[in-house]
Amino acid sequence: MGKPTGFMEYQREVPPDRPPRERLADWGEFHLPGPAEQRQTQGARCMDCGIPFCHSGILIKGMASGCPLNNLIPEWNDLVYRGLWREALQRLHKTNNFPEFTGRVCPAPCEGSCTLGIHEPPVTIKHNECDIIDRAFAAGWIVPEPPALRTGKRVAVVGSGPAGLAAAAQLNRAGHSVTVFERADRVGGLLMYGIPNMKLDKSLVTRRVGLLAAEGVQFRTGVEVGKDYPADRLLAEHDAVLLCGGATKPRDLPIQGRNLAGVHFAMDFLKANTKSLLDSEHRDGDYISAQGKDVIVIGGGDTGTDCVATALRHGCKSLVQFEIVPQPALERTSDNPWPQWPKVLKVDYGQEEALAVYGVDPRIYCINTVQFVGDAEGRLKEVHTVEVRWEKDANGRYLPKQIPGSEKVWPAQLVLLAMGFLGPEDTLLDQLGVARDSRSNAQAAEGQYATNVQGVFAAGDMRRGQSLVVWAIHEGREAARECDQYLMGESCLP
Ligand SMILES: Cc1cc2nc3c(=O)[nH]c(=O)nc-3n(C[C@H](O)[C@H](O)[C@H](O)COP(=O)(O)OP(=O)(O)OC[C@H]3O[C@@H](n4cnc5c(N)ncnc54)[C@H](O)[C@@H]3O)c2cc1C
Ligand code: SF4
Repeated sequence: MGKPTGFMEYQREVPPDRPPRERLADWGEFHLPGPAEQRQTQGARCMDCGIPFCHSGILIKGMASGCPLNNLIPEWNDLVYRGLWREALQRLHKTNNFPEFTGRVCPAPCEGSCTLGIHEPPVTIKHNECDIIDRAFAAGWIVPEPPALRTGKRVAVVGSGPAGLAAAAQLNRAGHSVTVFERADRVGGLLMYGIPNMKLDKSLVTRRVGLLAAEGVQFRTGVEVGKDYPADRLLAEHDAVLLCGGATKPRDLPIQGRNLAGVHFAMDFLKANTKSLLDSEHRDGDYISAQGKDVIVIGGGDTGTDCVATALRHGCKSLVQFEIVPQPALERTSDNPWPQWPKVLKVDYGQEEALAVYGVDPRIYCINTVQFVGDAEGRLKEVHTVEVRWEKDANGRYLPKQIPGSEKVWPAQLVLLAMGFLGPEDTLLDQLGVARDSRSNAQAAEGQYATNVQGVFAAGDMRRGQSLVVWAIHEGREAARECDQYLMGESCLP
């Protein structure tokens, strides 16, 4: 609850990020830790509001309101205020296996529904969370905690993203022997090869994976289940299987010129960049470089922002980011009231960096890409666009209408397609005979996570479609409990 009068005494304060110009020169994290006293006064702003929506984690109009992990936010805000960091850590770990990830990358739906946020800037919940866990690691409080007993049951987790890692942590805690299969050469899913290093340092991912390994979780990297390791063998060798393979099919833009050299999916760009950085600090040159190029990122969202920030670090010549939708409002509109997720314009780290370099926000709204044009060698040289206006059709649906005369030609040698993801890949789900929902995700009811195949569960983006790290951890934990219940007839997991 913090200090009863804290919200009247203290203003919201967040630790400063590194200045954009400085951080663009390296791949280090842009966050800086703040002083402990600052976090304590920020914890004091939590105002014992009685009905804390911040930890509710409900969906309103399809978007999260409050923390999907139901983190015990008012409790640990109070403990932070009192300087009881170790007790705060215990409360935090009750609901969240990986606060060092969410404390850095979560968009913080908790803050959008903080009661103080009705009339003042909300409590700095995300920064408080990050500080609790960073302090705990620095103090040496986080050590491997292997289970006292083993059940003799073997569980396979396919995919090592936040859903798979959370599930593995919980199932191992319950005493099962857990093997995590990952087709990439490194563990972590999009925590490793999606979100760039400047937002989440990869040493934090390997540190957590090291703890899980020390607790007894087995990791098998470079193994694609369904290809290198057949699905029937997976079923035969394990008592239960949990599918956490993500939603990795990218949305394409099948317009003229799509096959020109220089048009890439965002994930090919981001993954190769991080791998080359980790393998050789980019000395191997094994990545798609934006250096000296006119770059166009098509699509907003986290993926688009990460492309912007990565291209800037390569030293691109120019950079714009296209959005087909209109610019969001600057403040909440009347149809988007508290405690809903605020649909307002945000300047994320990538846009902030582009502003520092070029003096303008790179985003251009209501623009549609109609054609890619190449040179005689088949290399991209131009992108053709047209502006759109969003109009209601006869059924009341908003559709983009092209504005005649608004055609424009942009010089470009690199285009990055960051338009979202369509769902999970087919191979493994088809081999196992797992049924799909109407959006092609693995079909498994929320709260149950069991698929139509006995002993096979699904969680994370593979079940709910492209989402957030916090939802992946939530689903991994819940699916682990259901899986434990299936194996043992009961479960003590939360
Ligand atoms: C570029 C990018 C940036 C993002 N930034 C943010 C952010 O800032 N904040 C946020 O909250 N969310 C962000 N997200 C979304 C978030 O990363 C995902 O919602 C989350 O990682 C999903 O977790 P998951 O465990 O379900 O799947 P994933 O993280 O996708 O992990 C799935 C893993 O399964 C492996 N796999 C798949 N099939 C097989 C197989 N057959 N055999 C073996 N392994 C297999 C894949 O290689 C992958 O490693 C971002 C997403 C992207 C693409
Ligand atoms: S995990 Fe996300 S929503 Fe939950 S408390 Fe942390 S920042 Fe807020």
